[in-house]
Amino acid sequence: MATATCPSCESDVALDAASRQHEIVECADCRGELEILSLDPVLLALAPEVEEDWGE
Ligand SMILES: [Zn+2]
Repeated sequence: MATATCPSCESDVALDAASRQHEIVECADCRGELEILSLDPVLLALAPEVEEDWGE
């Protein structure tokens, strides 16, 4: 299992072995949503705020 550093609070975020690129993970510390930018090396970025999608 890989860990990465939260870009928001700099604590370690554990990644599931099944985690995939562009998946959203939650930082256990700051509860921020992080997108997995890449897996090798593991890079996380703050996920953009998702607005309510009411459809087209
Ligand atoms: Zn965090």
